[in-house]
Amino acid sequence: MTYVSDKVKHLPPYLFSQFQTKKEQLEKRGVDVIDLGIGSPDLPTPDFIYQELIEQAKKPENHRYSSYSGCMEFKEAVASFYAKRYQVDLDPETEVLALIGSKEGIANLIQAVINPMDKVIVPDPGYPVYRKGVHLAGGISVSLPLDKKNGYIPQLETIHFTDAKEAKLMFLNYPSNPTTAVANLDTYLEAVSFCREHQIILANDAAYDLVTFGDYRAPSALEVPGAKDWVVELGSLSKSFNMAGWRIGYIVGNRKVIKALSTLKSNLDTCQFIPIQKAAAKALRSDLSVVAANNAIYEQRMEKLYAALSEIGITAAKPKGTLFIWAQVPSGESSMSFAEKLLEKAGIIVTPGTAFGESGEGFIRISLSVRSDQLDKAILRLGKFGLKR
Ligand SMILES: *Cc1c(COP(=O)(O)O)cnc(C)c1O
Repeated sequence: MTYVSDKVKHLPPYLFSQFQTKKEQLEKRGVDVIDLGIGSPDLPTPDFIYQELIEQAKKPENHRYSSYSGCMEFKEAVASFYAKRYQVDLDPETEVLALIGSKEGIANLIQAVINPMDKVIVPDPGYPVYRKGVHLAGGISVSLPLDKKNGYIPQLETIHFTDAKEAKLMFLNYPSNPTTAVANLDTYLEAVSFCREHQIILANDAAYDLVTFGDYRAPSALEVPGAKDWVVELGSLSKSFNMAGWRIGYIVGNRKVIKALSTLKSNLDTCQFIPIQKAAAKALRSDLSVVAANNAIYEQRMEKLYAALSEIGITAAKPKGTLFIWAQVPSGESSMSFAEKLLEKAGIIVTPGTAFGESGEGFIRISLSVRSDQLDKAILRLGKFGLKR
């Protein structure tokens, strides 16, 4: 007899655990392994945010359960952020829902929207939670292959007619993890019109909405006129405000979808600790100068790493945002063989592109969210590694 459900048993194995074992073996032999596989910011949460947490945590009235959908201060702050940044009007009562991080929101959104055997269109390569969430909900993932030659922008006309007809939900993610691609408003205009035609809910994962470089500004899918009929957008404070461990995010847009997710979640969880929500509200209402300061650091690291990679003949598109560089592996290598070589010969961990889907083959994802001195050390090692090849 086994006490593990088929759904859990059949979850695809976590590819990173293999690397973890190798990392530990190397470290035991005294190798100083540099982990560029990380997706969590290394920089601290800005002062004013955790000061607010401390103040709010002192108040006994904040120790009770939050309202299921999130406290009003947080939902109003999300709405005001959307009004200011995107000129999108949201009703904080019905069009905003607090999430315990957007990862939870993605998995539960799928449960709230689809029935078993329903189809969900997921970007490939893409954030693994989309595909795994569909599996856990008993649905069928339909791959939307994203290709370098199209700048990783979806070619919606390639989606098979029956898939489009049978799909209930489609995920997009820009600025993108892992490809670092960005979308302009035209991409969302096309996606919304496709979803309207085929009656599909579009879920745009905007985890890196504020993590952008130079003059580039990422649009919101909700800027498309009439988007609220078909679109929900997921946001997170994890990457933009260095709050990954705080577990706070939100979903905004179509009120029927928000209501369904809220109903599901009210039966599963009781939202996040109120002081965390209030500190997050303060962050969203701020002038975002702390975000700009983070971005400047990531951009500097990106330029340095990009130059080092070019030097040793590894090609990558220069990212306009996110915490990563998405680089092509040298010819004759696979994602996995090259990632293994980097670990064994240079003591550097990167993420093989195939961790994000079949279409990630031929690429690796390198993280920028490691201390600058560690990154410098990795760059030195890459230089030596390059000569030896
Ligand atoms: C990090 C990440 C998330 C999840 O962030 P949370 O910490 O759960 O809010 C969602 N989508 C993508 C693409 C991410 O990279």
